Amino acid sequence: MALNGIEIYKKLPKKNCGECGVPTCLAFAMSLAAGKAELAACPYVSPEVKQELSEASQPPIRPVTIGVCEEALKIGGETVLFRHEKTFVNPTGLAILVTDTMEDKEVDEKLARVNQLQYDRVGLLLRGDLVAIKAASGDAGKFEKLVTKVKGAVKSGIILMSDNPSVLSAGLKACQDRKPLLYAANKANADEMGKLAKESSCPLAVHGKNLDEVMELTTKLTELGIKDIVIDSGARTLRQVLENEIFIRRSALLKKSRPLGFPTITFPCEMTDDLLQESLIAGTLIAKYAGIIVLSDFRGESLFPLLLERLNIYTDPQRPMATKQGIYEINKPNENSPILVTTNFSLTYFIVSGEIETSRVPAWLLVQEAEGLSVLTAWAADKFVAETIAAFTKKCGIMDKVKHKKLIIPGYLAQISGELEEELSGWEIQIGPREATHIPAFLKQWKV
Ligand code: SF4
Repeated sequence: MALNGIEIYKKLPKKNCGECGVPTCLAFAMSLAAGKAELAACPYVSPEVKQELSEASQPPIRPVTIGVCEEALKIGGETVLFRHEKTFVNPTGLAILVTDTMEDKEVDEKLARVNQLQYDRVGLLLRGDLVAIKAASGDAGKFEKLVTKVKGAVKSGIILMSDNPSVLSAGLKACQDRKPLLYAANKANADEMGKLAKESSCPLAVHGKNLDEVMELTTKLTELGIKDIVIDSGARTLRQVLENEIFIRRSALLKKSRPLGFPTITFPCEMTDDLLQESLIAGTLIAKYAGIIVLSDFRGESLFPLLLERLNIYTDPQRPMATKQGIYEINKPNENSPILVTTNFSLTYFIVSGEIETSRVPAWLLVQEAEGLSVLTAWAADKFVAETIAAFTKKCGIMDKVKHKKLIIPGYLAQISGELEEELSGWEIQIGPREATHIPAFLKQWKV
């Protein structure tokens, strides 16, 4: 049974050294009990105590990895019910469904879309994550052939779908090195599926008719030594899936229910034939709390909004997205090119750099660390003021790259130009446009 914070505290070394990231052993014990810390963070816990506390220190929802290397998708590992409490950590995986009864042409088109529909957004590559391959024919040879084809066509993670262990095993033979998710163990096949998962070291999904059956299955498989489990609650209506998702998350986090302490898989593709409705269901389940969502297809008009929603939900609400401080060369600048300066708020950086690129004018963009805040917010917080801009300009190395001493600051910071000229002796401070959209026109008339 899980221990509470005080019980855990009694077993800790009580050095209060802070090496675990919190100031005291008591605070660490409380974080452990709440599933917000890992026991390994304290270097002084004895092996005996480690053994004793292992259950208490397990994350409430087990993290499960599907796939390998850069394409590996990690799901689960969540510790909060609401993202504003802390953050959601492992984004929902989006999967596209192909079956071995589909025409080759249809499969080829779907796989092509998996590779094509990728979007560069604020420095991140947004795309679908998995291909779910279903053995709809029941023919092991056909299934294996399709798995081989998918494996050769895309690098994404794979979900193998069949409730027949020998058919699933044929598919597994073709892609075991990609560490696919095996879907799914049920009441009738749990022993054989468990054996397959154990021998292949692949994660295993369970499919119950309801949550009671799911809990029986996860308990049984855990006893067999299977650790990486994904739950399909069996529901196929939005209302029931949503209720189950919330129940599973609450049970795992608030009641420390081990049988429900796993990420989930959901199937909007089996809940409607209408792609728009399917996307709306998927959107709901990204917010509440699906680990994987299987879609009937990837289409730009439905996939892109889902990827954006996922990006927003899984961005840490307490930490602005930031770009690295430094000098950015745009359009191959030289020693006579203009120098602009801005903050490291990702959105500001991408808008400003995008406008400079559009202008086709070679330029240097200095991005100053300002805790990821936008220009005016950073200025108001004393993070992007004359003193910080001058210090950064002096030490960033731009002076070795240009012959002139002219610095363009954002239009909204016109009031600091005088002070900045004092700080940056010998430099001419120029006021740039207030709006990024006016940057191209400004740069085109700029002269050294
Ligand atoms: S590292 Fe260990 S001993 Fe040090 S404060 Fe944290 S829990 Fe206590």
